[in-house]
Amino acid sequence: MPFQTVSLAELAHRFKFDETPLKPVADLYPYRISSYYAGLITAPHDPIWQQCVPSLLELVDTEQHPDPLDEERLSPVPGLIHRYPDRAVLLVSNRCATYCRFCMRKRRVGCAGGQPALSAALEYIAATPQLRDIILSGGDPLMLSDDELHEILLALRRIPHVEVIRIGSRMPVTAPARITPAFCRMLAEHHPLYLNTHFNHPQELTSEAAQACRLLASVGVPLGNQTVLLKGVNDDSPTMQALLTGLLRLQVRPYYLHQMDLVRGTAHFRTPLEHGRQLIGALRGKISGMAIPHFVIDLPGGKGKVPVLPDSLTRVGEAVWQVQTSSGETINYFDPVSVAQ
Ligand SMILES: *Cc1c(COP(=O)(O)O)cnc(C)c1O
Ligand code: SF4
Repeated sequence: MPFQTVSLAELAHRFKFDETPLKPVADLYPYRISSYYAGLITAPHDPIWQQCVPSLLELVDTEQHPDPLDEERLSPVPGLIHRYPDRAVLLVSNRCATYCRFCMRKRRVGCAGGQPALSAALEYIAATPQLRDIILSGGDPLMLSDDELHEILLALRRIPHVEVIRIGSRMPVTAPARITPAFCRMLAEHHPLYLNTHFNHPQELTSEAAQACRLLASVGVPLGNQTVLLKGVNDDSPTMQALLTGLLRLQVRPYYLHQMDLVRGTAHFRTPLEHGRQLIGALRGKISGMAIPHFVIDLPGGKGKVPVLPDSLTRVGEAVWQVQTSSGETINYFDPVSVAQ
């Protein structure tokens, strides 16, 4: 592994707690925390801790489905999820530098034998001309070596209809030293290539993370961020604002804010849908529009992502709309061309 990790026993020693009750949790849902990420914990149960240290609450939630998004059904060949017409997710690794307790792929990350060979998936992509955008995901694709990733990217680039490649990786957050100049030079051979990362809390916006983002941006890789809305971690307005504006400072454009998926073992992180809608709605006008992500629900049953928008428009006349401003004022907006509609 390209980074050091901290065992549950070491963590227990460092923070003076008994790890015995947490062992069954780690047996069911894998445990790993990189030394770097563990170093961001300032106190037990802080926002970093909650994201990575196993909790007994994971065992309490047995009602929800391990795979609510029906990814297995949408998998035409092992290692590929094809839900939308023009893009697909290629699962290239089932390991991560740190296992997030809220992971939507809890059912497969870190499990032995969970990573299939990619040949069938690459053949499927080559035989499906409408696929123009391929998203490398996992687990974390950056768990592969530079050479392994280079091979996959070369294979994709040999397919003429693959226009855009995206990589989803949490390494800039959990193991930023993985982002080396050599790695970035390799990525730059495969443009247009985008990287979406996964910062959830301002405590993660360190100088090491900033350096990783700067390296990626310097070779022309546009950076996006997908945040999961997590109860007790980032579900209050000051934290969310600090995170989103801090990301722009790191040259990272907030892309999605995800409502927690209905995945088994994660119920304790879920916030009411209306809460997220208010939180995101209240940001408009307050912080840069560049910093505001789309708030989305990924619908159960593989029905896809749907944006959740603030209720800001009502039709009140033939050509008149009532609009809520960001400061809470109600104004009438005249839309002359709607008369004919
Ligand atoms: C999220 C997702 C995508 C990418 O969706 P975008 O809205 O284009 O970012 C593609 N396939 C699957 C299965 C997804 O879950
Ligand atoms: S890095 Fe991503 S795939 Fe890995 S455990 Fe965290 S959320 Fe899941």
